[in-house]
Parts: sequence; C-alpha cells; structure tokens
Amino acid sequence: MTLNEVTISRAILEEQHQTFLDYLEMDVAVVGGGPSGLACATLLAEKGIKCALIEKKLSIGGGMWGGGMMFPRIVVQEEARRLLDRFGITYREFEPGYYVTKSVETVAKLTAAACDAGVEFFNLITVEDVMIHGDGRVGGLVINWTPVDISGLHVDPLTVACTCTVDATGHDAMVARMIERKGGSLQVKGESFMWAERAESQILNHTREVFPGLFVTGMAANAVAGECRMGPIFGGMLLSGERAAELVAERLGR
Ligand SMILES: Cc1cc2nc3c(=O)[nH]c(=O)nc-3n(C[C@H](O)[C@H](O)[C@H](O)COP(=O)(O)OP(=O)(O)OC[C@H]3O[C@@H](n4cnc5c(N)ncnc54)[C@H](O)[C@@H]3O)c2cc1C
Repeated sequence: MTLNEVTISRAILEEQHQTFLDYLEMDVAVVGGGPSGLACATLLAEKGIKCALIEKKLSIGGGMWGGGMMFPRIVVQEEARRLLDRFGITYREFEPGYYVTKSVETVAKLTAAACDAGVEFFNLITVEDVMIHGDGRVGGLVINWTPVDISGLHVDPLTVACTCTVDATGHDAMVARMIERKGGSLQVKGESFMWAERAESQILNHTREVFPGLFVTGMAANAVAGECRMGPIFGGMLLSGERAAELVAERLGR
C-alpha cells in the first residue's frame, strides 16, 4: 500500500466536518472535561442521549491530572466507591472509607468510558457565550477555537444549539458567570474556604438547574452556591456528575 498524504488530510477533514455538522444540534452540551463533566456526559450518553463534551484545553481531564500538589494520586471516599467500580478504576483502601487512586488512570478510564458510551468530544474549543431567545432558556452555546481566544484574534465565533447545557467548568463556573455578567437572574457567589467534609456533603444539593436550561455540576455547582472548597478528594465530583445526569435526563423525559 502506498500512503497518500492528501488522503490522510481528507480523512481527517471529512470525518470531523461531518461530526461537527451533526452536532450543530444536540440534546446536551457538557462544558468542561473534568471529573464531573466526564461522569455526567458518560451517564447521559449511556441513556442514548446525544451529548457532546466541549473542552477548551487540548487534553480532557480538567484538574485531575495533577492530583494533590502534583502528586498524581487522588482520594475518593466511601460514598463514591461504587463509581470507581463502575468505571473500572483501581484503588487502594488507605484507611477505612478513604480510597486512593492514580490520577492518570482515573482520567484515562473516565475518558474511555465516555468514548464507549458515545460521547462526542470537541476539545480546543472555548465556550464564550450562551444563546438565549424569547423563551428565556439557554438554548445554545457560542463557541470558538481556543487558540483564537488565547491570541485575541478578531474572529467571529459559531453557534451550536442544545436542549440542555451542563456547566462543568470547575472553580470559575464560566457558563453561569456569562449569564450573571449579562444581567440574567443568576448569582455566582464564588467558592468559599477549604472544608472538605462540608463541601463534599453539600455538593449534591448544589447540583441543580440554576437557570432555565442550565445545570451546574462539580466545583461549578459549589462556586455558584458560595459553598466551601474541598481539595483533592474527588468523590463529590463524580457523584455530582451522576446527579447532574439524572436531573438532565429527567428534564429531557428520558
Ligand atoms: C489551580 C487548581 C486549584 C484547585 N483547587 C481546588 C479546590 O480549591 N478545591 C477542590 O476541591 N479542588 C481543587 N482543585 C482540584 C480539582 O481541579 C477539582 O476538584 C476538580 O478537578 C474539579 O472538577 P470539575 O469537574 O468541577 O472541574 P475541572 O476539573 O476544573 O474541569 C473543568 C474543565 O472545564 C474546562 N473549561 C473551563 N472553562 C471552559 C470554557 N469556557 N469552555 C470550555 N471548557 C472550559 C477547563 O479547561 C477544565 O478542563 C484544584 C485544581 C487546580 C488545578
């Protein structure tokens, strides 16, 4: 077989162009590929819901890679152990109820689960605004290439439509803040000081639809609520992603 460079280029362009066209309209857009976004997107896609994960960085995984202070280990508590099992993530019990996992394996296995479930990934794309029409719902997202954003190039974005949006952008709660900034009836209080027990126990209460069509999960949920931070314990992130998927599926009648 003789390799043809143009065929390689055509394969990439045709394949991704077709995928992009297909996802101009979707059921759910999950913004942010950290643990909460990955868990949420996977569980939605497993229900047959058309779901894309939009991530501004090159890599998926959000704040998981670095573990705690660049020690690539993370801790998951008893309540979320069943999700480690569900995604095939190996762990060691450190003390009763504290399970240590390798952050790289955790990212890889969550990402693999998302791929297997049928989540479509759009990395290197930044969500820069939301689309809200007369019905007052978030009905779509305004997106652009991250390098355009970083370099400050004067390039107009494009738009995708989605029935529901999940803000899984972490500490910054970027999507919620866009709505707040433009005068929508949504306040982002910003996360509070470190208190792992409180933050992890409250995160499911904060995982909810905060604006018509917009759900928050993970650190974004705690940031909107003004809740505490919790450091490198990730059970709450996975459980919050699971809860967000349940709420979104319910909203979609699935
Ligand atoms: C600097 C730093 C500080 C941390 N501080 C804490 C802490 O205080 N408490 C704590 O519990 N954990 C902290 N962590 C650990 C860890 O980040 C989080 O707990 C966990 O990763 C949060 O998961 P998440 O799913 O909510 O979001 P993240 O893992 O943060 O993932 C969010 C993802 O959204 C993407 N994103 C953001 N904006 C956009 C956009 N506009 N368009 C598209 N994608 C976007 C980001 O690139 C990122 O990949 C910290 C990590 C880092 C790196």
